[in-house]
Amino acid sequence: VVSGGARAVARCDSLGASPYSNAPDMLYRGYLTPALARTHEAVGAWMAEAGMNVALDAAANLIGRYEGREADARALLIGSHLDSVRDGGRYDGPLGVMLGIECVSALKDAGRRMRFPIEVIGFGDEEGSRFPSAMLTSQAVAGTLDPAALEVEDAEGIALADALRGFGPAPSVSRRPLRLQDYLAAARKPGTTRAYLEAHIEQGPALEAEGLPLGIVTGIASQLRYRVTITGVAGHAGTTSMPLRRDALAAAAEMVLAVERIARAPASDLVATVGRIEAAPGAPNVIPGRVVFSIDVRAGDAERRDRAAETILAECTRIAAVRGVEHEASRVHDLPASPCDAELMDMLEAAVAATGTPPRRLVSGAGHDAMVMAALCPTAMLFVRCKDGISHNPAEEVDPGDVELALRAMLGFIDRLEAADGA
Ligand SMILES: [Zn+2]
Repeated sequence: VVSGGARAVARCDSLGASPYSNAPDMLYRGYLTPALARTHEAVGAWMAEAGMNVALDAAANLIGRYEGREADARALLIGSHLDSVRDGGRYDGPLGVMLGIECVSALKDAGRRMRFPIEVIGFGDEEGSRFPSAMLTSQAVAGTLDPAALEVEDAEGIALADALRGFGPAPSVSRRPLRLQDYLAAARKPGTTRAYLEAHIEQGPALEAEGLPLGIVTGIASQLRYRVTITGVAGHAGTTSMPLRRDALAAAAEMVLAVERIARAPASDLVATVGRIEAAPGAPNVIPGRVVFSIDVRAGDAERRDRAAETILAECTRIAAVRGVEHEASRVHDLPASPCDAELMDMLEAAVAATGTPPRRLVSGAGHDAMVMAALCPTAMLFVRCKDGISHNPAEEVDPGDVELALRAMLGFIDRLEAADGA
């Protein structure tokens, strides 16, 4: 007998290659690509086998529904995303969907229905690896999507509207062609959803370092992103003496190190990164006159994040003044922290403890569909330990034993949710 956890892992593995990938030599499953349609076909069949009715919503999210005993009870949504980054791993996203299917499958095998319906949802666009936007499809479900965000095209110039029209879902999943004008109809009516539960690989090394298979997510870190432009003076690398230089790249280098130093100072979940830097004109014999770089600051607590960002910006101002270069920092991105629901967190913690695993709470530094879904209903997230904390990489790996524990914890959570709401 194969355990549900092992089957969930094996299914993720089977989705790791063609035709479930758009590339022959790596895993890439973009939103509205043929690989996603084939994935819907396979995952939809597993949902049906677990006793669910399968459908595609207006935003191309795959949804399996397992009816409850009460027709009008608010649904429990269990989900994650089916898309991947380019050259991604097999578990980031699909594992949460497979675990949702295993939960329902276990209930069906036990001949059980909960009071509430359970819907397993495979979101189509979380990573934003095809269109220059992310979490479009969970925003559509949560009812928070700005229609202007749909006016985008991919790197090949294909508009989202055309990709949607050309998306060929399996006939077993949907016969209805998708149209941009229907997109917002994916929104759930407020008050119809009891909770959203997402299981996901940790994408970090904390659980592994502590020898723990599972973690209860307390919230998703708030993110701040800046674009900093340094303007110095470009000059001949051979004839401009050192005291006369106003080197934009040397100034930026000092700022990059300041970002690292400031983020390291407090022993906390605060992290800050310069992930992109461009120097112009970019010639070996010219002193860089202009540099643009990014700063990404995250923490579980928005106040700590904002304090760190202020310190970083003040330090950049000081460095610019000392070096006689001009600098300008603009905030390009400000995502608030998304705390998980306190009551659901307690239930999940009790369910994790009941598996014999010491419960550990932690903040998610990465963004997830759960942060979007928090606008619709209370959310809970379960992290599963992953090898070396690696993700967005083909080396991504999980232990089927850990996934089995996650499945048991999720089933325990479902029972506790039913008990809490008074059966
Ligand atoms: Zn993910």
